[in-house]
Formats: sequence, C-alpha cells, structure tokens
Amino acid sequence: FVNNTEEFFKYCEENEVKFVDLRFTDMKGMWHHLTYMLSAVNEDNLTNGMPFDGSSVDAWQPINKSDMLLKPDVETAFLDPFTADSTIILFCDVYDIYKGELYEKCPRSIAKKALKHLSDSGLGDAAYFGPENEFFVFDDVKIKDEINESHYRVDSDEGCWSDDEEYETGNMAHRPRTKGGYFPVQPTDSMVDLRAEMMQILEQVGLTVVLGHHEVAQAQGEIGIVFGDLIEAADNVQKYKYVCKMVAHLNGKTCTFMPKPLYGDNGNGMHVHQSIWKDGRNLFYKEGEYANLSEMARHYIGGIFKHARAVAAFTNASTNSYKRLIPGFEAPSILTYSSQNRSASCRIPYGAGEKATRIEMRFPDSTACPYLAFAAMMMAGLDGIKNKYEPIGPMDDDLFELPLDEIRERKIPQMPHTLRGSLEALIRDNDFLQPVFSKDMIDTYQHYKFETQVWPDEARPTAFEF
Ligand code: GLU
Ligand code: MG
Ligand code: MG
Repeated sequence: FVNNTEEFFKYCEENEVKFVDLRFTDMKGMWHHLTYMLSAVNEDNLTNGMPFDGSSVDAWQPINKSDMLLKPDVETAFLDPFTADSTIILFCDVYDIYKGELYEKCPRSIAKKALKHLSDSGLGDAAYFGPENEFFVFDDVKIKDEINESHYRVDSDEGCWSDDEEYETGNMAHRPRTKGGYFPVQPTDSMVDLRAEMMQILEQVGLTVVLGHHEVAQAQGEIGIVFGDLIEAADNVQKYKYVCKMVAHLNGKTCTFMPKPLYGDNGNGMHVHQSIWKDGRNLFYKEGEYANLSEMARHYIGGIFKHARAVAAFTNASTNSYKRLIPGFEAPSILTYSSQNRSASCRIPYGAGEKATRIEMRFPDSTACPYLAFAAMMMAGLDGIKNKYEPIGPMDDDLFELPLDEIRERKIPQMPHTLRGSLEALIRDNDFLQPVFSKDMIDTYQHYKFETQVWPDEARPTAFEF
C-alpha cells in the first residue's frame, strides 16, 4: 500500500493511525512486536532504526551486548485488523550496531542475503515461493481431551499408522472420520464460516487468496494463497499464521500449525512451491522434458535432496515434525521426485505451462521459520545447479507401498527420522549455506534446538512407552 516514508505518514493520517507496531521474527519463526506511539515515529528513526533489547530473544545477544535496532521496511505497512485502535504493522530487519550491519541471526536478513546471493551467482534474478500452510482448529476447552485421546490410540495390529476407526467413539454424526475431512459439505465441514472469516481478513492484510477448504484430517483446514518472491512469501506466512490464529482465538478456538497433533490422522504440512527466474523467464520450464522440467530445475531438486538431511533442521524444525514424515498420510519420507505423486518428497504439479511450472517440496512444515527454510532450500538448490546433482527419480508409483528392504537395497535416500538426525547432519554439512548463514548462526541454532527440544524430548517417557 505504501512505497516510501512520505507515503507512510500520509497513509497513517488517512487511516487515523495511533500506533506503529514493529514486528520481527526470531530463529524459531516466532513473530515479536513492540508498539510505538505514531507521534514518536519520524523520518529519522524509520530510516535509521529503533532500539530494542536483543538479549531477551532466545539465542540472540548476551546481556552485556543487548542493544540492537529494528529497521522497518515501510513498503510492508498494513493495518492490524484485530486491534481496537488503528494500528499499523511494519516488518523489520534486525540491525547489529556493534558490527554495523544486518544481524547474522535475524532470519529476515538472512533471507535477504540469500536473494542477493542468487543474483550475484548469475543463476537467476528472482526466486518465487508458494507455501501451503495447513492447520488444525480445536475447541479451546477440548484441546486437552483431543490430545490425550491421541496418546491412547495405540496397540493396533496393523502397526502404528492404521486408521483405527474403532477408537472413534461418541456421537460421530456430521463429523469427519479419520482421513475423512477432504471434503464433504456442511454440516460435516463445520469450519466454513471460520475459514471465510480468515480468507477475507487475509485479503484485507494484503494477501491474494485463491481458495479455502477442509483438509483430509478431522478439524484440519487450508487456505491457498498466491505465491510471492522469497521475502514476500515468508512475510505472508507470518501474516497468515497471525490471521488464522487470531480468527480462531476470537471465535473461542485454537488454531495450531503443529505438524502432527493427532496420532493416526494426517498432519500439517507446509509444502513449498519454488521456481527460479531470469530476465522474466521461468528457468524451471523446458518443453518436452519429463513434466516439462528443465535440467536446471532437476539439478535444483538434486541439490535440495543432496543436502536434505541438513536442510531439514530448518524446514522441519521440531521434534514433532518427524512424526508427520511417515508413510500413509500424504507426507513424504523418500527423497525422490515425480509428476503428480503425493507420496514423493518433490511433486511437479501436472501440466502447469510455461509460467507456472515449478517444483513442490512436500517435506517442510510450519514449525520452520519461513525465512530460514526458504533460504536454506534455495541455497541447497543453487548448490545442486552448480554441481549438477541429479536427483533419484522420477518415481511415479505409490511410494508408501515401497518395502523397506527395497528402499535399503536400492539405497534410496530418505528424510531424517528425528530432529537430532537433522541437526547432526547440519553440523556435518553446512558449507552449501555459506556465506549466507554464518558459522556462528548455525552453531547457535543447533545448540538452541538441542537444548530446547531434542534433549527435553528425549528425556521424557511417553504414554506409548508405558
Ligand atoms: N496434509 C498432508 C501433509 O502432511 C498433505 C495433504 C495435501 O497434499 O495437501 O503434507
Ligand atoms: Mg493440503
Ligand atoms: Mg500441496
């Protein structure tokens, strides 16, 4: 809506803005804010930055070097649809005053560096990303019961991923069964009005919405958004989660993007569509090749697969993430590509045409910090282009049926099975991320994830183990 500081102040006046809400993203992908009176905001601090305490954000600055600056991007301005008083939100980058440059642990700044790396490499001048963030909506009061129940859906003879119909009890009229959510009409789909509210507010805050629908699992939904460039798409993920969570909250519900909240039903993915462009041309398109995919696109996939175990530390950033990446739930575990096949890690949407040909990476989920996840995938992809890495595939069969012996015999690579596995891979394999991700940033990130997730999780007996 706004292109420069002058337009920013004009827009504030027109909309009787009282507050300016500065937002930045930490390494977990969490959005943080602090709120200025409009009267305290001027040309000078909008351009040069506004101070905050960098030591109070997890894994950032030590207490004795806590002063940092938030540098707003005025072009990102939009009105907060949820505040009682007119408030304008600005995306910010974090500036390190000690080094006099963008902060090496600020994900949004890392994403900007990744884009610069792309153009410096000469391989492309634009990278488009289209994330699809799935979510569950639980009743606030019921969330505990739902989660508890999911703990006890165990002991099936068919292994841990059977449908377990027998565990569904109570009044099941007009309720989606396990995997039955995609997509009967109302009253089985009880989220129509909630999604409609989300969709309209998403448009208000500047996203272009295409469609909304119930997803496969019970109480699961998805809203389709038009893609953007790397930064815009990551900014949109932050807006999208904010809007979905707030709309649910205001309706007495809880919206969660957790990858696998319910045992035995589909989880929440964040599939990421990607293409690299140069001089207005989609470099991923080549007519007549398999799925009209260029050699460059294939090598980009090859690069992501080559480094997938390390990339997963960013794209599948929680211990829970790996409970989603098992066969049988439309989430992938095998690192191969295919046109149409939703059991492969990379799907090439069928018959997309010159402009829309792209790859869809299906393993990421919304516990990823979108800036870090998109940047890490792109860095791996560019490394694949440089080194001409060939991905295994295409494999067009149902990969969920592929026997484990065959996977082992043919040495078909798989996603890691734990967050520990991906973090350990990241420690070994991170040259491809340099210089966009600094060594210090990677070191801090993996320590932080071990301390806050891996070790506490590994130390806890679970209901299933009892
Ligand atoms: N929910 C599935 C996942 O975990 C994806 C379903 C779909 O293809 O949209 O990735
Ligand atoms: Mg989906
Ligand atoms: Mg998809």
